Amino acid sequence: MARYTDPVCRLCRREKIKLFLKGDRCYSDKCAIEKRPFAPGQHGPNARRNKMSEYGIQLREKQKVKRMYGLLEKQFRLVYATATRTKGKTGENLLILLERRLDNVVFRMGFARSLAESRQLVKHSHILLNGKKCNIPSVLVRREDVIAIRDKSKEVSSIKEASESSERKGLTPGWLNVDRNKMNGRMVDLPTRDQIMIPIQEQLIVELYSR
Ligand SMILES: [Zn+2]
Repeated sequence: MARYTDPVCRLCRREKIKLFLKGDRCYSDKCAIEKRPFAPGQHGPNARRNKMSEYGIQLREKQKVKRMYGLLEKQFRLVYATATRTKGKTGENLLILLERRLDNVVFRMGFARSLAESRQLVKHSHILLNGKKCNIPSVLVRREDVIAIRDKSKEVSSIKEASESSERKGLTPGWLNVDRNKMNGRMVDLPTRDQIMIPIQEQLIVELYSR
């Protein structure tokens, strides 16, 4: 499968926002946006953002969300198609569906420092979904589903450290309930739009795909 392999903080520069794609890097001044707060490439420093077309603005917003959740266009379009078939606002549905992906829920529960890391946890079978091994990052978590770190993996230092750090920072969103001692968590409810703390105007993505 194709995979995006450019240095991750180059994408922070492209989107002009820290994307936290790789663990703690964006928390520090190692994030490339700190030293070069303009778009990458030859024309980056001189890019005149105010000249961007409506289409350009919509496209950037879509790319931003796609990259935040680590998806390629084809996967993203599939999620979008589901969002259009679901009752309610398509833009909100899209974000809620993305949040419900197993890799994202593991990340939001604080068992990994980045989405890339949580995806690895899922793929390498460190995660149980309702007591059963599940290594598919795109699985949609449902209300009342329980996600747990497999017994064998509870001593993995990166998982323990991520979990402790998440507890200290108090980052767990209200739609998830995490037991740090047992290393598991439950989705108590679907996330609502205001619980999804990403600075995105999802309506722009709907406009882009409605062209
Ligand atoms: Zn960064």
